[in-house]
Amino acid sequence: MAVVIDGKSLADRIRAEIAGEVQKLKSRGLTPGLAVVRVGEDEASKIYVRNKVNACEKAGMKSFHVHLPAKISQEELVRQIQNLNRDPKIHGILVQLPLPSHIKPDEIVELIDPKKDVDGLHPFNLGRLSVGKPVFIPCTPAGIMRLLKEIGYDCDGKEAVIVGRSNIVGKPMAYLLLAQNATVTMCHSHTKDLLIKLKMADIIVAAAGTPNLVEGAWVKKGAVVIDVGINRSSDGRIVGDVDFDEVAPVAGYLTPVPGGVGPMTIAMLLRNTLEAAKRTQGQGKAKSSPIKKAAKKKQAPKTKKKPSKKKKK
Ligand code: NDP
Repeated sequence: MAVVIDGKSLADRIRAEIAGEVQKLKSRGLTPGLAVVRVGEDEASKIYVRNKVNACEKAGMKSFHVHLPAKISQEELVRQIQNLNRDPKIHGILVQLPLPSHIKPDEIVELIDPKKDVDGLHPFNLGRLSVGKPVFIPCTPAGIMRLLKEIGYDCDGKEAVIVGRSNIVGKPMAYLLLAQNATVTMCHSHTKDLLIKLKMADIIVAAAGTPNLVEGAWVKKGAVVIDVGINRSSDGRIVGDVDFDEVAPVAGYLTPVPGGVGPMTIAMLLRNTLEAAKRTQGQGKAKSSPIKKAAKKKQAPKTKKKPSKKKKK
């Protein structure tokens, strides 16, 4: 029977640590601030945003819930984001997706200052992640890696299969697993023989948004199965992408829905916001602006290399 990974209690521990760090920052006059932008009246977004804002407040951070009408024009939304970019009280900006269909989401995400992009979705941050030099890691994949660390799982040499190729989950997940030396297969709605691919996997990350897609017979004995999906079943319950009852007797580890990946996503959002605030005081992991730093590196004059004694192989 699979060990059920308790994402909620790990997330609670992480949030308590973050709250402690926030208190220290506040005593030095800095309160981390997160702006959460919601456009329109999408019901699921309303719940997600409320959870994020509450978590932020509980950690002692300041939250700014910017709720805009569904009819807002692209130009007005652009102006709103630019204002948030300029506001020194705000260290992190998150635009809750999906946006109404007349808004171009890529344009909005690219407008967020990468130093405030706590969702890690700006092409600058995704690009840094893809070359193994992350600044902000998207929250859900970051939370999953933390869960794997918690169970002491070594990804080196393992077969990982990710179902879903979104920018927010699937793709960054692949970069992170690759960086841990897993062999990664990405699946999506055009993938043939999903069953065969999943059956070979030591690690499955299911992020398709399809209720109970992964069945017990598709899972290798002892596999680690991470369920990212949040779906509403026909009887109104929240269910994942994995059929929990079927997969639990086969898998080695399994995350529940709710109470698995979801709480970790919020904990990582707080972690990224804290980091963003610290960086404004030169305390974070990346001390200067990520963009300036990258540009500086590029422009640095080349010093002559001493001839190496080592022979090139
Ligand atoms: P997207 O809709 O952006 O992407 C879904 C991906 O799954 C796409 O790549 C799609 O393929 C693929 N897919 C859909 N159906 C199938 C199928 N039957 N077989 C194989 N691949 C399939 O979703 P997100 O990545 O944003 O979210 C995925 C799920 O995770 C949702 O349920 C969402 O609510 C949940 N979620 C949960 C979070 C958490 O904190 N727990 C955070 C973020 C998301 P294609 O590209 O070909 O269309």
